[in-house]
Amino acid sequence: MTPPTETTHTTLINPTDESVLRTVERTTLAQVDDAISHAMSAQRAWAALPPAERATAIRRFADAVGAANEELAQLEVANSGHPITQARWEAGHVRDVLNYYAAAPERMIGKQIPVAGGIDVTFLEPLGVVGIIVPWNFPMTIASWGFAPALAAGNAVVLKPAEWTPLTAIRLGELALESGLPEGLFQVLPGKGSVVGDRFVTNENVKKIVFTGSTDVGKQIMAGCSHQVKPVTLELGGKSANVIFADSDLEKAAATAPYSVFENAGQDCCARSRILVERSVFDRFLELLEPAVKGVVVGAPSDEATEMGPLVSKVHFDSVSSFMADDTRVAFRGSAPSGPGFWFAPTVLLPKSSNERVVTDEIFGPVVTVLPFEDEADAIRLANSSIYGLSGSIWTRDIGKALRVTRAVESGNLSVNSHSSVRYTTPFGGFKQSGLGRELGPDAATAFTETKNVFISTD
Ligand code: NDP
Repeated sequence: MTPPTETTHTTLINPTDESVLRTVERTTLAQVDDAISHAMSAQRAWAALPPAERATAIRRFADAVGAANEELAQLEVANSGHPITQARWEAGHVRDVLNYYAAAPERMIGKQIPVAGGIDVTFLEPLGVVGIIVPWNFPMTIASWGFAPALAAGNAVVLKPAEWTPLTAIRLGELALESGLPEGLFQVLPGKGSVVGDRFVTNENVKKIVFTGSTDVGKQIMAGCSHQVKPVTLELGGKSANVIFADSDLEKAAATAPYSVFENAGQDCCARSRILVERSVFDRFLELLEPAVKGVVVGAPSDEATEMGPLVSKVHFDSVSSFMADDTRVAFRGSAPSGPGFWFAPTVLLPKSSNERVVTDEIFGPVVTVLPFEDEADAIRLANSSIYGLSGSIWTRDIGKALRVTRAVESGNLSVNSHSSVRYTTPFGGFKQSGLGRELGPDAATAFTETKNVFISTD
């Protein structure tokens, strides 16, 4: 037997202690094409099933995911370094997303439109095979935002996990089969983005791409899809603002701010990585923020008390570290274990201007900048001075101001006096270069259909 090589296999590293976890075989181009052909036949049979049968099958898949919660969570701890409590939540979220969209097959309701000389109806037709490309930061949850509504709408799915973090996705693919989903309907194809992901884009039998990842790769995918006018949903980068007005509950704003950016070690597209504070309370806010940052429990992901684990890889650790130049003004830092593992302590920076790279670029690590603003107009100007527009928070006790500012901030997901995380019942997606289209919420399954209009003459 030929031993695994770096060209045919990926070696997975546990980010907590840098030990080798296992190797995973990369899918070849020929195997991707075979999987897509297989998915085409599975999709035709799936779409022909009565809606209630598809709903039941998705509920069984959800039950299997629910029963495997601990196993999936432990895989994410080992592969991604996610704290165990967070990883259990993530596996539970996948089950919930499947259950939520299990209601969709029986609710794919078209319209009946008044016309002369007959009746006019619309049908929501499945697209066929959908290609989903997933990043490494939330491997399970982000995958489910694509595959659950896509399957519910009558499609087959081929899914490419990120090369560094394929384990939970591979297990989800197995659970789909074990729960009785037809073979070929949901296939997980680990491998390189430039091979497997790119093939989803170029293969004409993949009818839509759902991509979550960096803005640069998202642009390439969009350009690639344009050759076939292939629809895309893009969930890309973020550099979201946490806007704190002087009239807010400053204690609560400061106590919660670390968790809005350091959760998942800052590897979160929704991280509120730019804190903007009204100048009159700037110093007081920093006084309150310091103990909150130092109180974040950074440590072994397997420990239930841990709130933040390591960064995902050495490559990513080096990328985050590259933002810490000699002239970077550090206000204070939290703690992190020393020794092996890709540990990076929570870090608060005080940039001199809003043009600095730490303010404009997505660091995707546990690093936050704090800048002062003068008034409401200045807060809106600063919040919007980014190519991104994914999430953000507004802190004020003035409801009128909260509404004015949320309407003025160019972002897809905002919360007032909180840092609401993603809810599967509400739409999620970005303005500007944070993305295109929306995932989750009541309409997500519709994004995996074409609307067909049919006129039936009564003459
Ligand atoms: P990348 O864009 O590098 O990768 C994302 C996925 O795309 C991976 O599966 C990757 O495969 C694949 N890929 C890479 N190149 C290609 C290609 N040419 N064609 C097709 N697929 C390709 O991002 P990261 O995984 O590094 O994730 C970090 C970035 O993603 C951050 O900027 C972050 O903001 C963003 N992100 C956005 C989210 C959102 O919801 N808006 C959520 C999560 C992350 P491979 O693993 O082999 O490189």
